Order: sequence, then structure tokens, then C-alpha cells
Amino acid sequence: MPSSLKKPVLIDRFGRTVDYVRISITDRCDFRCVYCMSEEMTFLPREQILNLEEIFLLAQCFTELGVGKIRITGGEPLVRRGALELLHKIGHLPLLDELVMTTNGSQLSNCADQLKAAQVSRLNISLDTLKADKFTQLTRTGDLSVVLKGIEAAIKTGFKRIKLNAVILKNRNDDEVVDLVNFALKSDIDISFIEEMPLGIISSHDRAEAYYSSDDIKADLDKHFSLEKISETTAGPSDYYRIAGTTTKVGFISPHSHNFCSTCNRVRLTVEGRLLLCLGNEHSIDLKAVVRDSKNDVNLIKEAIIQSMDIKPEKHEFNLKEQPLIMRHMSSTGG
Ligand code: SAM
Ligand code: SF4
Repeated sequence: MPSSLKKPVLIDRFGRTVDYVRISITDRCDFRCVYCMSEEMTFLPREQILNLEEIFLLAQCFTELGVGKIRITGGEPLVRRGALELLHKIGHLPLLDELVMTTNGSQLSNCADQLKAAQVSRLNISLDTLKADKFTQLTRTGDLSVVLKGIEAAIKTGFKRIKLNAVILKNRNDDEVVDLVNFALKSDIDISFIEEMPLGIISSHDRAEAYYSSDDIKADLDKHFSLEKISETTAGPSDYYRIAGTTTKVGFISPHSHNFCSTCNRVRLTVEGRLLLCLGNEHSIDLKAVVRDSKNDVNLIKEAIIQSMDIKPEKHEFNLKEQPLIMRHMSSTGG
């Protein structure tokens, strides 16, 4: 059922309707991107994370509470065993409007078709650089050629839309923003540039020193492309432009320079089953405990989700110059 016909159930104290949930299905990943993880990571033991049945049950409860869009993310969602079957089940939930996924692209050449069959309609694929050596530096373990093949396979499969996500760091990959847009143009896909967020302790660089703002990126792009502002809003954090005369959209996700909290329509389910009400705050409820203590009682689970709306914070505060207040990495949160 289209969300416009649904009666909103999840409304917070500030009158915002929550109709979008991001679910992290694993904290593990085959990459170790410098802005996301430290080189040595300790991952959660199996009993501490939601099992696939619990994730499905929660997804079902959300759709019955008016949530029309679910994004599956991680860590790298496609490294979790059983991920494709889970996606297939969630994708066929009768009240869901849209299932989308964020991936690093490393597994796509093997499973793009299966994702389409699972009803995944749109993909966000992370790509920060087109230089092979830089790619290995930024991801620590990744191989650019594998990801490029994955992107190609996804394009051939014919998803409704594919978007690249690029985190831009000063003096690492800020010189590539024009090349990345040209790549998106050539491939007839979209691209969003993301300002790095201070989530978790990382070892590779000083986040304040590497900060490269959306305004800087936009200024670089304006020298080469004609960017037309798109007025339609997705209620998301991206500010969108279209490259004149093309179908390619360029988004800017700017948690530092442009606060997007007033239109926030989303919550996140972490891999440990915490329902996180805001990416930049720790306000959360322990849904795993509710699921396990209630022995999967959907009424109690739904009641807990409705109650959680009372603690959704008004906005986030990120400060790059201080130690991160948020100790969780993006990978366990679900970016
Ligand atoms: N592994 C998948 C991927 O990389 O696309 C999905 C999970 S990843 C955590 C989701 C998105 O978060 C990616 O686009 C990644 O670039 C972004 N990300 C990770 N850490 C970030 C940070 N500290 N600041 C901003 N974006 C970050
Ligand atoms: Fe893995 Fe995605 Fe984090 Fe990179 S950004 S380390 S690919 S979870």
C-alpha cells in the first residue's frame, strides 16, 4: 500500500512521522574503511546479535506500524550467511512499499540478480575513489576491480535506481569529486557525497583535519557541471541537484554543515537489536530484550516501538574537534 494511503502510527513528540527503518544485519565486513572502522576490530559474538528470524519479525512489526520503507545495511549486509533469504522474506512483506540496500559492492557480481528477485528495488553502493591504490588505502582490504564489476552487474540487472555513496576526505580523495560524478554520468546512475561523521574511535586520521564540506565539493563541481537544484524532497538528509540535461542526480549529505533533523523520518535497528532513535545520539530501546522476554509477542513488540517515539531526540550535535561522544562505529549502527 503506498505510504500516502497509510495511517501514520509512529509519530514523535515533535510531530515527525517515522515511516523508514534502517536495519543493520551484521557488524562484520570484508573491508575496513578508514573512516568507518579501526584496523583491528572486535566483532560481536553471535548470541549478542539478532538472529535472522528476529530481524524478520521486527521488520514485519514495523510494516504493521506504518513503516513503508526498509533499508538493509551493516557492516556489509551481503557477508551475513542467510542474508539473501532474509531479504527475500522482508521484500515480500505485504505492507512494505520499498526494500532498499546499502552495500560496498564486493559481492554484487555474484548476487545482483538474486537481490532483484528478493524485491530490492534500489541499491546504494559505496565508492570513494576510482584509483586502485587509493581504494586499497581507504578500504584497507578492498579491491577496486571487484567493486567495479559488481557495479556493472548491478546496472545490467536493472534496479529501479542505483546511487553511489562517496565519503570525501581532505587530501585523500577530494581531488576525485569531478571524476566520480563523470563516472556516475557515464553509468547513468546517481551519486551522493557524504561528510564524515564522528562515529566511533578510528586510528588512521584526525577527522577534524580531514573534514571536507559539502559546500567545498559543490564549489568544485560547479566549475565543471551545471547543477540544478531539485525541489522535491525525500525527507532525507540529502540535498539533491540534477546535472542539467541528464538523469543523474547529485546529493550532498551534510551532517555538519546543514542540519537535516527537522524532517527526520527514520530510526535504526542496530545489529544488537537496539532501536536507535537518532544517528547522532544514544537514545534507544532494547528491542532484542523485548522480543526475547516476550517470546515473540508482536503486540508487546509493537507497543514498545510506539512508546520509543517519546524519546526520539530533536536533533544531533556532531563536533569533530572533540573525542567522539558516540562510541559506536557506523558499521554496527547501520549507515
Ligand atoms: N558496508 C556497506 C557500505 O559500505 O556501503 C553498508 C554499511 S556502511 C556503514 C554505510 C555507509 O556509511 C557507507 O556509504 C559508508 O561510506 C558510510 N560511512 C561509514 N562510516 C562513516 C562515517 N564515519 N561518516 C560518514 N559516513 C560513513
Ligand atoms: Fe565496511 Fe561499509 Fe564500513 Fe566500509 S563503510 S568498513 S564497507 S561497513
